[in-house]
Amino acid sequence: MATEPRTKKEVIVQGISASQGIAYGTVFVYLQSDVEVPCYQVDADKRIEEVSRFDKALLTTRQQISKIQDEVEKNLGKNEALIFDAHLLVLEDQALIGETIREFEATGSNIEICFNKISARYIQAFSEIDDEYLRERAGDIRDVAQRVLQNMLGQAENSLSRLAEKRIVVANDLSPSDSASIDRSAALGIVTDSGSKTSHAVIVARSMKVPAVVGVRNLTQRVKTGDWVLVDGYDGLVIVNPTEQTLFRYGKIQSDKKSFEQRLLEANRRPPVTLDGVTVTLQANIEKVDEVALVKEYFAQGVGLYRTEYLFLNSARIPSEQEQFVAYKAVVEGMAPNPVVIRTLDLGGDKPMEGKSDLFPKEANPFMGFRAIRFCLEHPEIFKDQLRAILMASVHGDVRLMYPMISGPEELGKANAVLAECKAELKTRGQRFNEAMKVGAMIEIPSAATTTDLLAKTCDFFSIGTNDLIQYLLAIDRGNDRVAHLYEPAHPAVVRTLQHIVDAAHRAGVPVGVCGEMAGDPIYVPLLLGLGVDALSMTPPSLPAVKYLVRGMTMADARALAVEVLALGSAQEIHAKCAAFAHARISQP
Ligand code: PEP
Ligand code: MG
Repeated sequence: MATEPRTKKEVIVQGISASQGIAYGTVFVYLQSDVEVPCYQVDADKRIEEVSRFDKALLTTRQQISKIQDEVEKNLGKNEALIFDAHLLVLEDQALIGETIREFEATGSNIEICFNKISARYIQAFSEIDDEYLRERAGDIRDVAQRVLQNMLGQAENSLSRLAEKRIVVANDLSPSDSASIDRSAALGIVTDSGSKTSHAVIVARSMKVPAVVGVRNLTQRVKTGDWVLVDGYDGLVIVNPTEQTLFRYGKIQSDKKSFEQRLLEANRRPPVTLDGVTVTLQANIEKVDEVALVKEYFAQGVGLYRTEYLFLNSARIPSEQEQFVAYKAVVEGMAPNPVVIRTLDLGGDKPMEGKSDLFPKEANPFMGFRAIRFCLEHPEIFKDQLRAILMASVHGDVRLMYPMISGPEELGKANAVLAECKAELKTRGQRFNEAMKVGAMIEIPSAATTTDLLAKTCDFFSIGTNDLIQYLLAIDRGNDRVAHLYEPAHPAVVRTLQHIVDAAHRAGVPVGVCGEMAGDPIYVPLLLGLGVDALSMTPPSLPAVKYLVRGMTMADARALAVEVLALGSAQEIHAKCAAFAHARISQP
């Protein structure tokens, strides 16, 4: 790995560990529109030069967009490439360019600040227009303005999907679509100013096996593109300008971890059976079709959660029934004969569809708002396309359908009524589907947890979404770094609620899994199994450590652990008890 003369001082910044691993390399600061643009006065004799800097940035941007457009056309087709025509038109917009230059002449401020001000004015004006097509132009202007600004600020490789070389991405925040578009071969690590362990960007980082640290406040203002940084995803540290001693120390940690990971990978080839002979179901969570290969590489027994919203987040428009069917069928066939739990859309919350502000208007409390099943029931045309696509895929393997964010029996009844309509429509069309396809619900809202017995009457299975369940039980916004330290899976309320759900489900003969991040955390796996959870589903790279632990413990001990933990009164004690149980069975370097 290349090094540079280390003249700068080492600075260690504490964040929150989000995805394990160690990465070392140069930074790429990913600027979003609300990042500050420098502001200074340009000397009178430098003004012609300043305008030509602007012209040059416009030209470079045009070349970049044309190149991307060619590639998109080659890889995805002509229609998908058309969106870039609108971007190229922004660059020719004489009003925007002319007003920027007039602002510069009037104020003498640097051209970036003038351009930022004028483009922001246009974005605002377009986003208020009462016409969907024109409103979407606001998104085009925002994208193009971002690119022009980055070119002027000397950050040429301005797209996360096209990093010019291997980099550590440092961003103030990453939207789910930002993170889904990250160039997987070039991102060494991910660091964000905001976020918490369960923000969706982090889940994507973990599934990419990229070390990540979040909640590192203001890091984007403390480093610049090209700075050297070490990311310690184990302890949640970011070390800017690490010294030779630090690099040496981390080199040793990394090689110890590597040999431990090797041991885990070997254990991963064996079946997930406890020392007292109980076979445990370990499955994988995926967001994209191309992750099926990874799921198989880790020997998962099926997909316990397919987050279909990423198909929508990565698209400029709502995918059609046929497009969705093709994606679902590819996953189902790829995983056959193992089951695939396809979760219906969980858009909204921290996953609004960008450029679709008519469908997802701004909300003060998006996590408590128009999200997931609530959105689907109000947009039956979108929901039904998806339900029919899933039903059509059900003849190609073991498909199970799951609704997110179910709040109680009435909502479940409404969703099932729409499903029944879709079945009738497919019958009229003469389209085949599996009439006996299993249908389940996520238990991730406290009201669903307390009505599990009622929901069980019309559910074939449950999956507990601990990410949301914890946020709603404890009133902790899962994406807010200010309260991230209060987000506590070991809270007695969480453990009691889990027990309540499992007992109620089992009394009704309905199996219950866990697919939140807790299911992939070795510290909590014995507790979940001891409470009686039937299956665990996690990001594929979490599987080896969980399987290693399962193979090193007895179910009898796990049950005893659950009994002990249920009697404890604080998160600290519960965490300590669970950690001691796991550590005694996994010896880490
Ligand atoms: C959860 O809430 O635990 C879950 C698995 O769903 P998501 O993280 O997609 O909200
Ligand atoms: Mg959820």
